[in-house]
Amino acid sequence: MRIILLGSPGAGKGTQCKNIVAEYGLLHLSSGDILRQQRAAGTELGRKAQSYMDSGGLVPDEIVIEMMIEAMSKAPEAGFMLDGFPRTVNQAVELDKALAPSGQKIDVILNLSIDDSVVAKRMTGRRSCPKCGAVYHIENLKPRVEGVCDHDGVALVRRPDDEPEVVANRLETYHEQTEPLVDYYKSNSNVVDIDAEKDADAVKAVIFEQLEAFAEP
Ligand code: ADP
Ligand code: AMP
Repeated sequence: MRIILLGSPGAGKGTQCKNIVAEYGLLHLSSGDILRQQRAAGTELGRKAQSYMDSGGLVPDEIVIEMMIEAMSKAPEAGFMLDGFPRTVNQAVELDKALAPSGQKIDVILNLSIDDSVVAKRMTGRRSCPKCGAVYHIENLKPRVEGVCDHDGVALVRRPDDEPEVVANRLETYHEQTEPLVDYYKSNSNVVDIDAEKDADAVKAVIFEQLEAFAEP
């Protein structure tokens, strides 16, 4: 299966991806995670992306498209799940072009919908493990011991772009550049709207119910 998870930053895409890829054996491809890895490794790509990420804007299409097409080429037969890509209509068009020669297509687009006020609280309360990437929330999805990752005992950190002033820019960027993708896909693909304001287990249950219909028999 090839799935795209759409939704504003902080809607819960990364949280839900973990469940879905484990169940279906898919490769999880988060453009944000890949960009953060490039920055941590000090690559040229990471340096180019830095200022855009820190201000809450989008990294230029040509950088992200090449990076994601390269990452997709490593997906297993079972497929992949895109999280945070595409984020502009141009990225979506280029994605379709990249899949076309091998006869591949996106099977389903899950659109996590959520109000800005809810999502802003999710981002400002988000904490992540710098070692394994596990994501928590200070109120909604707490680790067993406050401030410490359940998996490896490492101290959790707050992403610099989850500071309130950057969060406001990221939401503006989402509405201007990414939200139009929902209509783009609704005109030619299977788009399933998911109410992402429910708790994480309830959202997971709805997603799994929907995916059953698209899974291989
Ligand atoms: P995204 O990948 O879309 O940016 P995340 O999966 O990182 O979003 O989730 C953003 C924050 O909200 C995290 O702190 C996460 O623990 C929390 N979160 C995710 N899903 C839910 C949910 N359904 N209810 C409450 N909090 C959630
Ligand atoms: P995320 O982890 O998905 O919230 O992404 C963090 C940041 O990485 C975003 O605010 C953007 O600056 C950048 N980014 C991630 N994915 C993309 C993309 N598809 N296109 C452009 N910029 C992206």
